[in-house]
This record gives sequence, C-alpha cells and structure tokens, in this order.
Amino acid sequence: RDEQIEFIKKTIKEKNVRFIILQIADILGSAKSMALPITQIDKILNNEVMFDGSSIDGFARIEESDMYLNPDLSTFIILPWKTHNGYTNARMICDVYMPNGKPFKGCPRYVLKKALEKASSMGFDFFVGPEPEFYMFNVDEKGSPVLENNDKAAYFDMAPMDRGEDVREAITIALEGFGFEVEAAHHECGPGQHEIDFKYADALTTADNIMTFRYVVKKVADDFGLFASFMPKPVEGIAGSGMHLNMSLFKNGQNIFFDENKENGLSDEAMYFIGGILKHIKGFTAITNPLVNSYKRLVSGFEAPVNIAWSEKNRSPLIRIPAKRGLSTRVELRNPDPSCNPYLALATALTAGLDGIKNKIYPPEPVNKNIYEMCLEERQENHIEALPKSLYESILELSKNEIIKDALGSHVTDKFISAKLGEWENYITKVHKWEIEQYLRAY
Ligand code: ADP
Ligand code: MG
Ligand code: MG
Ligand code: MG
Ligand code: MG
Repeated sequence: RDEQIEFIKKTIKEKNVRFIILQIADILGSAKSMALPITQIDKILNNEVMFDGSSIDGFARIEESDMYLNPDLSTFIILPWKTHNGYTNARMICDVYMPNGKPFKGCPRYVLKKALEKASSMGFDFFVGPEPEFYMFNVDEKGSPVLENNDKAAYFDMAPMDRGEDVREAITIALEGFGFEVEAAHHECGPGQHEIDFKYADALTTADNIMTFRYVVKKVADDFGLFASFMPKPVEGIAGSGMHLNMSLFKNGQNIFFDENKENGLSDEAMYFIGGILKHIKGFTAITNPLVNSYKRLVSGFEAPVNIAWSEKNRSPLIRIPAKRGLSTRVELRNPDPSCNPYLALATALTAGLDGIKNKIYPPEPVNKNIYEMCLEERQENHIEALPKSLYESILELSKNEIIKDALGSHVTDKFISAKLGEWENYITKVHKWEIEQYLRAY
C-alpha cells in the first residue's frame, strides 16, 4: 500500500494532475462520481472523503447517509484526455464504507467481492470477458439523440458503409489509454450497431472495466457528435444490444473448465457450472436484464436467447461453449445486456455456477439444433423452459430464489426489487401504440 501511494503521488506530480475523480456504481449500475482538487489528495488516500449516500438512487436511508469513499488504489489511472479546461485528471474507483469502518452492504462492488471470496475459498479464480454491444445515433439541433443514423452497414462491413469506423478507432485508442487490451472492434448486425471486445480479466477488474467502457464509449461518441446507447432494444425489428459474458474458473493458473480426457474437452466442474447457471438463471435474469426494454431483446429471430438450454455450437441457446479449448475454455452466457449492473451480474452468475459445482448439478443434454425452429411440443419433450418474458416475471423469480438473494444480500435485494417493481408498475400504466393499432378499431 505504501508503495502504491508513493507511485500515485509521484505520478500526480509528474503529470501535473489537477483533479481526482472518485467513482462508484449505484445499485442500478449507474456510474456516480465526485471530482476533488488535487489539494485533497491526502484526504483521499487516507479514506477520509465523505459523501451523502441517501442522495444516490437505491443506496442508503437518510439516517445512514454519511458514507466514506475508500479508493481502490489499483484502479488509479490518468485519464487519457485533457478536460475542456485543458487539465489532466486522474480517476480511482472506490469501495463504499460506513462511518463505523465496515463496508457498506449496498455497494455493488462489495457484493461482487463477497461472491469472489466464496470462489476463492473453493480455490477458484473467476475470469470474465464481456462482449458489449451498443448503437450510435445522430443528435438533433438541441443535442437530443434521435433513433436515426447515417449508417447502412451490417455485420463486419467495412468503411465507407460503416461510418462508425472512425469512432470505433477513437474509442479503442481511448480504452487503451485506460489500460484495456482491446481484442476486436467490429460493426454489428444492426445499422449503427457496434461491438468492441476486450481481454478477459479477473471478475472485479472486468466489472470495473465495463463501467469504464460505457463511460468511454459515450464520451467519445459525443466528441463525434453522436449519441451512444446501451439500451438493450432501442429500435424494434432489428437486433438488440447484448453483452455476452464469457466465464471460466482457474486454479493455480490452470483453466479448470478444460479436461483433455473428456470427449468434449469439458471438465466435470465446467458441466456443473453450466448446470448451476441453468438452474438459477430465472432467479438472476432480473439482474442481467434489468429493464422493461431488456425483454424486447429476448425474443426469437435475433440471436438473443429465449430458452434455457446450452449448446456446443448453436448460437440460439442461453449458453454456448465456444470451440476453443485449453486456456480459452469458457462458458458463454448470452442473455445479459449492457444495461445491467456488471458487479451484480457477475456476482450472481458466479454464485449460480458455484452452486452447480457444490451440488454437482449435471446439466441436461446439449441442444445442438436451432431452438427457434422447434415447436412448443418439441421444446417440452426436451424439457426446454423459457427465460422470463418480462421484467415482472423475472422480479418474481428473483424474489423466490434464496441462493441469488443471499448473494445480493438483503439490502441490495430489497432496494433492487422495490426500484424495479416501481419501474414495472409505471410501465404498465402506459398505453402502447401497438395496443391502439391492434384494438382501437377492432373493439
Ligand atoms: P464471440 O465468438 O462470442 O463473438 P468474442 O471473440 O467476441 O466471442 O469474445 C470473446 C471474449 O471471451 C473476449 O472478451 C475474450 O477475452 C474472452 N475470453 C477468452 N478466453 C477466456 C477465458 N478463459 N475466460 C473468460 N473469458 C475469456
Ligand atoms: Mg463477439
Ligand atoms: Mg468476435
Ligand atoms: Mg455480438
Ligand atoms: Mg459472443
């Protein structure tokens, strides 16, 4: 720690850093930050910075509003751009603590750390590589985003069809400035839709990276006069934006999902992990797909999963096992979308997988044909259940799943469910244009 502090102080001097941005995530996964002038650096490094927790959504009650921001020194980074005023700033991601010195149970980072402790008590390190997708839209004269762009390109197209190319390039450079190893950036299926993949890392780093990623993408798009959105299904009739999570467990530097003696190269642990995810997926779909709108992406025909099954080949099921083996052996969970709180999503997915390993939950046979093309009877014969079809259904499933609720802790569970129920209840009071078209004349 002393070395880290020394390094930070030295870097701040060398780079003439003017402000330190302290960042946290609220329960719904929005990034929140506070900028402190460099004169406050000792206070920051001594964990003495306070903020009012009650003014952050779903965080704390008024009575327990005083909270502390304890920066995770390993997340210190010089922002790879100057501010509007020409200053160089630095950023640190924080853990939220209470005045009594204990971690705040409503801090999403704490929830993930708890889940990771469980994994490490079983000897496992959890690695995750995300594949976030997003759209970029034009903005009107007032600066508000419109659901249009000048992009007519499709999957993997090249410029000049793909107008996003320059923006993707700038995003990639900025991400590298944040220490990311970007593996690939490409145009996605939808017009104006993109995916940028960065290298997998331990789950805490990856969750922090997803927060940083969303910020960087939005900022750079804005620099180009575009608006980037991680909304799961912004335009009906074309592909929604997902965020597949590629997951693996390591033990002593070895990927324990790989077993060369098995015909399919997958170890028992990998199979149980899949079994656990399949068992609990309904219980944590509210976390991985947290918006009313998330469920408009989870429909058939767009490569988004609808049914609870796994496959070694097909891209229609919930879980796909990419062909790579050895160090890259991984379980790809395909339902999450980029509007989720990454800390809670990774914590619950891990908890489900570990429950599978603990209880040796063997998954059913893989389904290697296109589930979209199966009729209901065929799905029933194969015992293929559907994912929750709405936010409401997934909230009910969450409220019934003790393992997932335990992983979230009662504070986060209660705040999350009440926020999401409120969102749902507001939504169902609205009359949709589809209903008018369908019913007004007919009845
Ligand atoms: P897809 O074929 O589904 O499009 P991508 O190549 O876009 O896959 O993304 C693969 C992701 O998986 C990357 O983030 C990569 O770093 C990650 N990954 C590779 N090996 C592992 C591993 N062992 N554990 C977790 N993630 C991994
Ligand atoms: Mg991909
Ligand atoms: Mg790819
Ligand atoms: Mg994709
Ligand atoms: Mg994928």
